Amino acid sequence: MNTIIVWFRQDLRLSDHPALQAAARDGERCIPVYIHDDGAAGTWAPGGASRWWLHHSLEKLDQQLRELGGHMVFRNGATADLLRELCEETGATAIYCSRRYEPWAAQQEQDLHALLADHDLTLRRYPGSLLHEPGSVLTQGGDPFKVFTPFWRACQRNTVAKPLPVPELSLTTDIQSDSLESWGLLPQKPNWAQHWPEYWSPGEEGGRARLEEFLDESVGQYAAERDLPAVKGTSRLSPHIHFGELSPRMIWDRCEQYTAGAISDSESISKFQAELGWREFSYHLLHFFPTIPEASFKDNFEEFPWIHDEGRIHAWQRGQTGYPIVDAGMRELWSTGHMHNRVRMVVASFLCKHLLTHWRVGEDWFWDTLVDADLASNGCSWQWVAGSGADAAPYFRIFNPVTQGEKFDKQGEYVRHWVPEIAGLPDKFLHKPWETPPMILEEAGISLGDDYPHPLVDHKQARQSALDAYETIKLSKP
Ligand code: FAD
Repeated sequence: MNTIIVWFRQDLRLSDHPALQAAARDGERCIPVYIHDDGAAGTWAPGGASRWWLHHSLEKLDQQLRELGGHMVFRNGATADLLRELCEETGATAIYCSRRYEPWAAQQEQDLHALLADHDLTLRRYPGSLLHEPGSVLTQGGDPFKVFTPFWRACQRNTVAKPLPVPELSLTTDIQSDSLESWGLLPQKPNWAQHWPEYWSPGEEGGRARLEEFLDESVGQYAAERDLPAVKGTSRLSPHIHFGELSPRMIWDRCEQYTAGAISDSESISKFQAELGWREFSYHLLHFFPTIPEASFKDNFEEFPWIHDEGRIHAWQRGQTGYPIVDAGMRELWSTGHMHNRVRMVVASFLCKHLLTHWRVGEDWFWDTLVDADLASNGCSWQWVAGSGADAAPYFRIFNPVTQGEKFDKQGEYVRHWVPEIAGLPDKFLHKPWETPPMILEEAGISLGDDYPHPLVDHKQARQSALDAYETIKLSKP
């Protein structure tokens, strides 16, 4: 019997899955496998929040397979050894998988390919995680794009294929599998994720439901409301996309259907699609410039005089900086595993520019705490904010956390929700509590320094220090 192993990785769905589709076509029996191999990813093994999501997503995928008469084979350990053993155990001669683009994963694919070939086993890699494979969109000179706008324009000249249906699979139930619980992916003592099921439904079905909800309720206002953290104005699809529960093609196709039906505002749809474009751009950059998660894209930033102050970093992580919009964002992250994009930009800018902390410190914290932590998007976004990345925000453009709060959280709903200790302040002072007259503070029952911290740094001074620090690398390497 021709048996094919489908090695699931960051593609935890059954629909629009080219590797699964090919296995159903080529094999008489298909064995779905997921291998938990932290060693392979090294320092980029999933962080705490991602592990929570991964557990639930795998549980859901296993349920889907059980409904089709099979199950997911869970194994824990070194991927290459386990895949080879599984081939021996089941008589499989080929392993099909979706391609990944993280440097460690791409290397793993290469090594595995060579190792399996020595044993007359085949590894076939399929696309499925991107709209456009890296290398399929290049400049006229054949180079990788380093600027988003021409990249996205070029992408739009390519067509996006329709998503594939769930294939008919011939599955079995007789292969030994670890229990998912034995991997210990869920937090125990304390269980900091106990409320997360109120925010999230990991899995393909949960992803589809969220997409439909977004298309029904929010996409029409996306262009106008996507920057307002108090409003449900963005899709919150990022963890579903990251774990491959929805392919970008599935989302793209639903957007096209919406545009064709003219049910929604097409400017908003295009804006939303362009955000998927930023994800594509990040992956494309990671593929061609694999050191992005670890080293500044612009060389001169390697000389930047960063400061490492544990106390300040801790205050930032815990939402105790004294700047309400920053603290609200960091607390939203801690409580839900997510943070609104506008606020991500503000807190990242605050860390790198107001506190002069290396962007890698922020990248690591996000890696551990975000449910959508993604090597490509996280690395590129941190470098974008820090000013060190490709097509980055200019370093000298330093977000003022007070005006950002006043502009994007005008009525203060977001800050009042996440920083309840200052909820009693009038709108006028909510984003700058230190300017509140003592009488008003007293009326609101707030003692600054006790109930809520004084600002960690003075905005004007911090801004000047950031600009001075930037001068040092600007002069040394223009
Ligand atoms: P929507 O606005 O609904 O966008 C739709 C989808 O487009 C998102 O789900 C996401 O897949 C993609 N997307 C949107 N904006 C971006 C962007 N700037 N870059 C890349 N893809 C984007 N996104 C991650 O998925 N993982 C990360 O680890 C991550 N880290 C970030 C770190 C910083 C410092 C910043 C500023 C941004 C980061 N982002 C990251 C990008 C962005 O903030 C999130 O993708 C977005 O907030 C997810 O919410 P949403 O699904 O509601 O987005």
